[in-house]
Amino acid sequence: MSEVRLQVKNLCKNFGITKAVQNVSFNVNKGEVHALIGENGSGKSTLTNMLTGIYSIGSGQFILDGKEIHPKNQVEANNEGVSIIVQELGTLSGLTVAENIFLGNEDQFTKCGIKNTAAMNKKAQEYLDSYGFNYIDATKVIDDYNFEDRKLVEIVKSTYFNPKVLVVDETTTALGQKGREELFKVMHKVRDTGNCVIFISHDLEEVIEQSDNISVLRDGVKIGSITKEEATPDRLKALMVGREIGDSYYRTDYGEKVSDEVVLSAKNVTVKGQIENLNLDLHKGEILGIGGLSECGMHEVGKALFGASYFRQGSVTLGDGTPINSIPDAIKHSIAYASKDRDNESLVINDTIGDNICLPSLEDLKTHGFLRAKTMNEFANKFAKQMSTKMTGVDQFVSALSGGNKQKVVLARWVGKDSDLIILDSPTRGIDVKVKADIYAMMDDMRKRGKSIIMISEEIMELLGMADRILIMKDGKINGEFLRSPDLKDTDLIDNMI
Ligand code: ADP
Ligand code: MG
Repeated sequence: MSEVRLQVKNLCKNFGITKAVQNVSFNVNKGEVHALIGENGSGKSTLTNMLTGIYSIGSGQFILDGKEIHPKNQVEANNEGVSIIVQELGTLSGLTVAENIFLGNEDQFTKCGIKNTAAMNKKAQEYLDSYGFNYIDATKVIDDYNFEDRKLVEIVKSTYFNPKVLVVDETTTALGQKGREELFKVMHKVRDTGNCVIFISHDLEEVIEQSDNISVLRDGVKIGSITKEEATPDRLKALMVGREIGDSYYRTDYGEKVSDEVVLSAKNVTVKGQIENLNLDLHKGEILGIGGLSECGMHEVGKALFGASYFRQGSVTLGDGTPINSIPDAIKHSIAYASKDRDNESLVINDTIGDNICLPSLEDLKTHGFLRAKTMNEFANKFAKQMSTKMTGVDQFVSALSGGNKQKVVLARWVGKDSDLIILDSPTRGIDVKVKADIYAMMDDMRKRGKSIIMISEEIMELLGMADRILIMKDGKINGEFLRSPDLKDTDLIDNMI
């Protein structure tokens, strides 16, 4: 019998009428990676946030090495030996790398009220080096580094003190290949030293590969726990959604002719250091996929086409030659954009679902020049429900929603606006299978209604499954073009990315 490290016992948590976690129990042994999976909004983050002091415990217990713990904040959790890596950015702007690593734990470098910055920097650099992240300079401000490197700093921050329990909450969706590999190395190290990992991810292959045991949550309730050996992606999906769903959520049609009518054209678009002389045409009713490695420039293409890239050269025009040079131009001409960075670039987080959905449609919603609350409410309700957003009501704040439901609000906004041309950057990033299926169905429906979609994606299967045509980018340039076909292979695309 292996020894139990962490017991989760009868855990509950409500938010108003939402029962986010209901009587959940499971054990994690020493040296175990325990995955927690479930649809968006099933209670995974609520559970781990209680364990790591981010949320207060509703009721129930966490017992670590035989002793009950109830951390009131993350620093207390760290002191108990529990730490977390979150999906969104977990480092603070304006602070140095070293300050971020030791945030809340600076005391060890403070004597008689004076902080010994040099000693702190030295220690931070030692840790960074020991992880092989030598190129990250502990003394620099964190803002000098890109998202992925900031994530690596966060990995160091949450593991340098050898936590007994490490929570990894949907971190991999934010990472490229390299970041993932580094994260898995760290997870293995935690496991090999007899500690344990609670691993949350939507990538079921990855879950099976990395975990020893898997617990499944549905609507806050634990549906079951199975071992790695018993798990297959289909079995896990069925447990998550309560019915069998296959891989068939992608389009199944092949050989449908796309219209020749061009609705958007980019000519010699250049954004210094990111995109070089890019040319593309988007057709009516077409889903145009753009893929590549995360730094290939494709995310900037979405911004450049939407008029949101400040230093863009070259031209972006509609089919009739109308230039699109700014975001107001784009919105006026029925172009929509959903950013990869939902929290910072797509949504007004500290506002309601209703206001977020109505935002681009305010002009259309006015009667005699006035906005009426009732009209806005009905409009928001209609499209939030159409996207089956899980919410208590449209007056709920967006900040309280899970990742997948935030994305539904973004899409509800543009479906409501009835945009003709939608640019979707990483539309299903961090989103569970069920919501994914909804989003793909929505895209397919829009395409059939003659709307055009640009889908920027780091997921090869999604590109192959949904696009009429795929452009692969490398180093800011288009490096390959592929037409939809059942014979197209993931390796064909990958060869053009690297
Ligand atoms: P998951 O991580 O599995 O996607 P969450 O734990 O984030 O799901 O969410 C579970 C439920 O609790 C959802 O219905 C969500 O809207 C709700 N919820 C989560 N955090 C809050 C909060 N701070 N305030 C209100 N409701 C919340
Ligand atoms: Mg979550």
